[in-house]
This record gives sequence, structure tokens and C-alpha cells, in this order.
Amino acid sequence: MTQRISHWIDGKTWAGVPERTGEVFDPATGEVRAHVDFAGDGQVDEAVAAAARAFPGWRDTSLAARSRVLFRFRDLLAQRKDELAAIITAEHGKVLSDAAGEIARAIENVEYACGAPQMLKGGFSENASTNVDVYSIAQPLGVVGVISPFNFPAMVPLWFVPNALACGNTVVLKPSEKDPSASLFIAELFAEAGLPDGALNVLHGDKVAVDGLLAHPVVKAISFVGSTPIARYVYETGTAHGKRVQALGGAKNHMVVLPDADLDLAADAAVSAGFGSAGERCMAVSVVVAVDPIGDELVDKIAARMGGLRVGDGRSPDSEMGPLVTAAHRDRVRSYVEDGVSAGASLVVDGRSLEVDGGGFWLGPTLFDHVRADMSIYTDEIFGPVLSVVRAGSYDDALALVNASPYGNGTALFTNDGRAARRFQNEVEVGMVGLNVPIPVPVGYYSFGGWKDSLFGDSHAYGPEGFHFFTRTKVVTSRWPDPSQGGVNLGFPRNS
Ligand code: NAD
Repeated sequence: MTQRISHWIDGKTWAGVPERTGEVFDPATGEVRAHVDFAGDGQVDEAVAAAARAFPGWRDTSLAARSRVLFRFRDLLAQRKDELAAIITAEHGKVLSDAAGEIARAIENVEYACGAPQMLKGGFSENASTNVDVYSIAQPLGVVGVISPFNFPAMVPLWFVPNALACGNTVVLKPSEKDPSASLFIAELFAEAGLPDGALNVLHGDKVAVDGLLAHPVVKAISFVGSTPIARYVYETGTAHGKRVQALGGAKNHMVVLPDADLDLAADAAVSAGFGSAGERCMAVSVVVAVDPIGDELVDKIAARMGGLRVGDGRSPDSEMGPLVTAAHRDRVRSYVEDGVSAGASLVVDGRSLEVDGGGFWLGPTLFDHVRADMSIYTDEIFGPVLSVVRAGSYDDALALVNASPYGNGTALFTNDGRAARRFQNEVEVGMVGLNVPIPVPVGYYSFGGWKDSLFGDSHAYGPEGFHFFTRTKVVTSRWPDPSQGGVNLGFPRNS
């Protein structure tokens, strides 16, 4: 008997019988470790109804009481981070230290949400007109949906859930069906922190659950993170149903290395950002653009570092890189390696030959050189441990390559030339830029979001834009007149 994972609705585990379930694997062994219930329309209705019932009470819970729940949740998360990291590693496969890093970044977002009383202060203009005051109030939207991808099963839900709750909304979270347990752990910690039943519900499943949330008339907003085709679909469908939608999509992040850069530091960064989490990060570096004449030297340095990478079970402290999330995903990534070879790219390090004991979903770090912009290993988001090096003749050629990409999530420039760096930050059409920083994920008090096909909608995730997304503003104009000031006046009110 494997473990059963079910929905968390109205403060408890759903007790019904599912019509459909999915398998959850341990990627390091290939074994099925659990079956997860898939929601049908009935469970979508139940979860949304629970959130709708909880909304009036939570909306009217004082700012002080709401932020105290978040403070308690933050402490519980910090105390129990090792348990959560173990859950992430068991279902996702990433190494424990990487899972701990994801939780640390998640905690930053909870800490930001703890400051809700400061963030939700409105403006007040005394005497905007004589004896008339004008002020603004930021109010919650109601029930909001959060739909997250497999690659950050704790951090991405916690990009949205704390801020949504801090603003007074109630939430239905639909995590990835590939690694659903982290969301349940989070929901239980929120309950322990004092969050009322129904304020956070976890609904498991696939497209059926997502479509149910997108069409549900009670759901006011959707925060989505996943691949670009699904992000575009979620944005178009959700907005067609009158919802506010932010949908973050996929990426192909370029790291440009100028000839004056420290090539050892650049090679360290390319390997760390290319193969951390087996390349299953939306901010992974997947393309290195080597500007002439340093290409050969840089490729040698990257290849030398790859030789020393230890790939194995994420639970072992010796492992630096774990398996891929499923066999199907590993096979897809592997097929890109075959495509790259057939298209004529130089295969410098071939990860297909990696052998690890057990039946896990393994693929070793792979490096291609002399990749061209028309090859599928360049155009497509592979989302695995495959790094491509493209040669560019000049800074201008490198910039043009980055800007021609339909994606615009993250990019990095490695250089010691401050003027080149300033030019790059000004000219590059990408939402998050690292200057000698390979994975420029903004801290919790900025906001996270790409440009172009990496984000649909106009609000980035978390930070100030997160608060903006989860509230709507009401402006009140008030006066308390003396009875002697009456009288009918059909003219348009003007300020005096
Ligand atoms: P995915 O698009 O397959 O799934 C994301 C979510 O959408 C999941 O909850 C899934 O159940 C649901 N879903 C899948 N197919 C659907 C469909 N046809 N209709 C409706 N819903 C559907 O993404 P994934 O494989 O879980 O995650 C990896 C992707 O996420 C990569 O493309 C990565 O770049 C992207 N990502 C982006 C960011 C970012 O901030 N831009 C962050 C993390 C991951």
C-alpha cells in the first residue's frame, strides 16, 4: 500500500472517494511513493465554497491579528524546515541543501507579508477641498486561486499565499501533481499558526482542477506559475472569465561573458546556475554567450568543473545534483541531447553515459558548444541539466541574441567593465538582470517577474507588486457638513 495524498479543504483532509488519482514518484529510486487524489468539479466547488465562507471573517480580522498568524507561521516554518526539505527532496529529487535554500527564500516572503499593516496603509488628504477629506483603502479581492509548478513546491506557493492572506483574501492553492506534499505541510503549519479553517485550501489535480478554478465565478484572481504555453492559456482563459490574472511562464536564460570577465568566476557561475537543481529552475542559466575571443578557454574551464560534479540521491550529503522529476521528463531532456548532436552542435560533455545505482530518473550534466540560434537545444526551454554555449563576435551581437529570444525571465552579464554593465542593464529586454550574479532572483521586498513570454499580465510576483495584485483600492471622499450648509446645486462638484 502506498501513501494516499488528498485535498485539504476547510481545515481538514478531504474524506471523499476520488474519481481519478495520479502517481507520485521518488525520483531517486523510480518507485511510486504515493497516489494523489485528482479534483473533479465537485471538489473545486467544495474548496471554493470553504474559502468563500471563510472570507468575511478573515477580511474583518484585524491587521494585528492577521500579521500575528503570519509571524507564528514564519517561526513554525523556520523550526520545521528540515522536515519540509526532506518532503521536497523525496518527491522532487533536488538535493537537501537546495531544498533548504528554497525554504530560506520562501521565509523571506513570509517575513515581507508580516509587514502587512505597513503595506496596507492608504493615503489621506485632509482638506482636499474645504472641509472635505479624501482617503484610499486597499481591500482584499475575495477568494483567489494559486496554481504552482513542480520545480519549487514550497517557495512558489509561498510567493503568493502569505501576501494573499496578509491582504485579507482567502486562497485555494492547486500545487503541481508531481510533488503535492509540500503544500499540505504548509497548510497544516498555517492551521497550527492559527489561520481559520477555510482561509487556505489545497486542491490537488491537473487540468480539470485548473479549468475549474479559471471558470469559477467566485474566484476573483489567479496567480499562476508554470510553462509558457500553459501560462498563456491560464491568462487568456482567466481574463476571459473576468478575473485578475498574473501568469508567470518559462524561460531561456542567457549568461553573457565579456572578454574582460574573470573566466574562473564565470565558469563557476555557469556550472552552478546551469546544473543546480538539475537545471529545473526557471532562473537556471541554459545558454552561455561567450564573446570572442574567450570561447575556447571558457568552455575548457566549464567542462573541467563539470567533471567533478557529484550526481546522486538528493538525501545523500555527498550529492550536488539529484535526478530529474519524472521518467517522462528525463526522456524528453535526453531527446534534446540527441537533437543537439543531430543538428551538429559539439557535444563537449555527454551526460547520457552517467550511471547511478537504482532505478532513478538520471541524466548527467551535459555541455554543448558551438550551438546556433536555429537549433532546438537553443530555441526550446529544456528544463534539465543541458548547457549550451553560443559564440558571439561582439557585445552588440550578444545583446541582439538575448533580445531576440521570445523569453525574458532572467539574464546575467559577467564583466569587470562598469560601463558595459550599465549599458546592458539599460538595453537588455529581460525582467531580472544579474551583473556578475548568475541567478538574480529578487529579494522578497522587490518583486519577481520576467518580460515577454515569461509573464502574462502586468503584475510581478511577491513584494510590493504582490500586495498590489491582491488588493483593490477604494477612494473615499467625505465631509461632515453643518446643517446650515444645505441647498441643491446641480453643478459638477469643484474643489474650493
Ligand atoms: P506546467 O506548466 O506543466 O504546470 C504548471 C501548473 O499547471 C501545474 O499545477 C499543472 O498541474 C498545471 N497544468 C499543467 N498542464 C495544464 C493544462 N494543460 N491546463 C491547465 N493546467 C495545467 O509546469 P511545470 O512542468 O510544473 O513547471 C516547470 C515550468 O514552470 C517551466 O517552464 C519553468 O520555467 C516554469 N517556471 C516559471 C517560473 C517563473 O517564475 N517564471 C518559476 C518556476 C517555474
